[in-house]
Amino acid sequence: MKILVTGGAGFIGSAVVRLAVTRGHAVVNVDALTYAACLDNVASVADSPLYAFEQADIRDRAVLDRVFAAHRPDVVMHLAAESHVDRSIDGPGDFIETNINGTYNMLEAARAYWVAEGKPAGFRFHHISTDEVFGTLGDTGQFTEDTPYAPNSPYSASKAASDHLVRAWHETYGLPVVMTNCSNNYGPFHFPEKLIPVVILKALAGAPIPVYGQGLNVRDWLYVEDHADALLLVVEKGKLGRSYNIGGENEMRNIDIVQTICTILDEKRPGNQAYAEQISYVTDRPGHDLRYAIDPSRIRDELGWRPSVTVEEGLEKTVQWYLDNEDWWRALQDRAGVGERLGVKA
Ligand code: NAD
Repeated sequence: MKILVTGGAGFIGSAVVRLAVTRGHAVVNVDALTYAACLDNVASVADSPLYAFEQADIRDRAVLDRVFAAHRPDVVMHLAAESHVDRSIDGPGDFIETNINGTYNMLEAARAYWVAEGKPAGFRFHHISTDEVFGTLGDTGQFTEDTPYAPNSPYSASKAASDHLVRAWHETYGLPVVMTNCSNNYGPFHFPEKLIPVVILKALAGAPIPVYGQGLNVRDWLYVEDHADALLLVVEKGKLGRSYNIGGENEMRNIDIVQTICTILDEKRPGNQAYAEQISYVTDRPGHDLRYAIDPSRIRDELGWRPSVTVEEGLEKTVQWYLDNEDWWRALQDRAGVGERLGVKA
């Protein structure tokens, strides 16, 4: 396949790009290179004849038309987005423009291209979304693909809106779409403003490790390379117009994630005291969803997919990756807002 990947210089998009090229697919990486992007994430495949890069902003429809015409992809995997909930609280406008208007532009550019090509049967528009569109759960229950949408943050509301557009372009125009909603990812190349890298890097710096509220929020953690594997399966084998929830089968409270990382660091890089001594409880995020959990039966039963690593294995690999790749994360710590407490405006 020739895959047009948007957001391929980000965390999950770059995992998709690396895996797709490794498996012999051609990839066109379309990315605006915002603060969250890093081309080093795809350095391992950048010299491959299968790889091409286009610096392009999905808010610019004319540029997208040119990219589609120049590269003539077989399928599209749309990951480009503003992705950080705390930034969406401070500045929701970018989330509306990229996640909603940008997805609209992608759908229209893809539709125009698909029609111009004579509606090829294998064409797919794969929209990558989040379980946060479903809102929050209590102590029990799981999100299925039929759970009603109830987003609570500007980020999740903008992703919910984009999901609705994708569905409508399928129902109204017959655009061949597949959709996925996945749980929290973690792993190598995770931008240093997200929970797991923040914990690792604050611990290594000897700084307070911030835990929002009481740390009781539960997430279903998915190793990013498992997610990339699931996404390539869905774009190839997913049923048209269908959405698939993707989870790691690894529910954990934030405080337990933090404690586990501290214990791994105690073994790998022992300090004068246990890293857990640095844990510091801070004011909670406004509208902080209590619990997310994915019912993964559809992707498991219909497509035969399951995550390959447990959260303990994945965290061990992730911590080791950050210890081994200091040059990568040090360069990103200078970017605006990184290392600061964001999203506290109520
Ligand atoms: P990220 O923030 O690491 O990367 C986003 C990428 O999109 C960056 O490279 C950025 O430069 C690019 N981008 C942003 N705005 C753009 C624009 N206007 N035009 C072109 N490129 C633009 O995000 P991520 O964590 O890799 O998430 C990727 C996708 O997966 C997003 O759609 C997100 O909603 C979804 N998702 C993420 C998670 C998670 O845990 N990280 C979970 C579920 C779903």
